[in-house]
Amino acid sequence: MIGLILTLQIAAAAPSMPIPTFVVVRDGGTVTSVPVTIDGGQASVRADALMKAMHGMLITGTNLHYTLVLPRVRLDLIDGIPFAKRDSLTIPLGRAPQVRGGQLYLPLQFVSDVIPRYGGGYYYDVPRTASSTPIASTSTSTAQPPVASDRLPPPSAVRKPVGRRMVVIDAGHGGPDNGMTGPIGTPAWFVEKDVTLSVAKKLATVLRARGVDVMMTRTTDTLIALADRGKIANSNHGDVFISIHVNAPGYNTAAAARERGFETYFLAEAKTEDERRVQDMENESVKFETGANAPKGDPLSFIITDMAQNEHLRESSDLAQTIQNGLIEVHPGPNRGVQQANFAVLRGSYMPAVLVEIGFGSNQSEATFLTDQDNQRALARNIAESVVAYLAHYQSRVGATR
Ligand SMILES: [Zn+2]
Repeated sequence: MIGLILTLQIAAAAPSMPIPTFVVVRDGGTVTSVPVTIDGGQASVRADALMKAMHGMLITGTNLHYTLVLPRVRLDLIDGIPFAKRDSLTIPLGRAPQVRGGQLYLPLQFVSDVIPRYGGGYYYDVPRTASSTPIASTSTSTAQPPVASDRLPPPSAVRKPVGRRMVVIDAGHGGPDNGMTGPIGTPAWFVEKDVTLSVAKKLATVLRARGVDVMMTRTTDTLIALADRGKIANSNHGDVFISIHVNAPGYNTAAAARERGFETYFLAEAKTEDERRVQDMENESVKFETGANAPKGDPLSFIITDMAQNEHLRESSDLAQTIQNGLIEVHPGPNRGVQQANFAVLRGSYMPAVLVEIGFGSNQSEATFLTDQDNQRALARNIAESVVAYLAHYQSRVGATR
């Protein structure tokens, strides 16, 4: 490779300090240091200062868009979105770039992983004062010997030790958002948010006992914005996202009260009336959210979100099928099959993601079934087994590269 080749190096203030204080950019004999800032335990670098040191330029666009112009490539970023774009290539980031005090900050991982891989001719060196302690949650590659940029693992590979899996469990609704209430034809005694939380906690317990890491979007009776549930999943580097819900028919009659059974959804455009009904019902939670949590409404950010999610469509569909098939063993049924719909809660999670409707709370006998602790445990154990089986299958297919 000819032309400009820089060396990036993280320098620590002292050997005892594992947090780097500067990114050192070397261009032949010229050395420029860019300060590393720590915010909320996360190491970042100011984009404008880094670009200047790298003979590049930061262009501030409209609608939270930024472009890093390097001598050979341009990288597009959006504030708060954990993806970069180079032409038509979408690059996942461990953490989103963020604007603070009017300045764009890049996660340190962007310097250690993304620029060497996608920046066109940059190398990343480990710190001279390398400590055995990895830099806080941004990259473990700093503790490894230097490697040529084309041999660096993809960003996702340095997120956590190989073999550990993170399942994000989302208990549907919460706080002022009760979800559905029922059953139909009786004084309402069933509240969806309580059952989803109870099942979610039991699912977490079983998965942890099986050696799987678990993050829950909520553990108490609180409202978490739909969009934030996906963000929680992303920032915790989830491998799988599972949202637990209880179903209800779209109308309120004796016939509706007889509806029962379980179904598992993955994210895609709703195809049938019934899929659209469940989609609209679960997306209703948005009305409980305040403006601060509302989506930013940037069309391009949705395009990027779509692209990221599409990569997981096949996986999400496989996971949904595995869970749905498993539930046949413990659920009185009927088996309503795997469905697809455009759920807001699944939209923002960049990983295989499913939504399980564990039954109809509108039906008297199913409401009784779903509120029973033993039945909840059986459902949780069954879903956990399916997730473990899915993860093992997933690892056998992609394990070599992750
Ligand atoms: Zn629900």
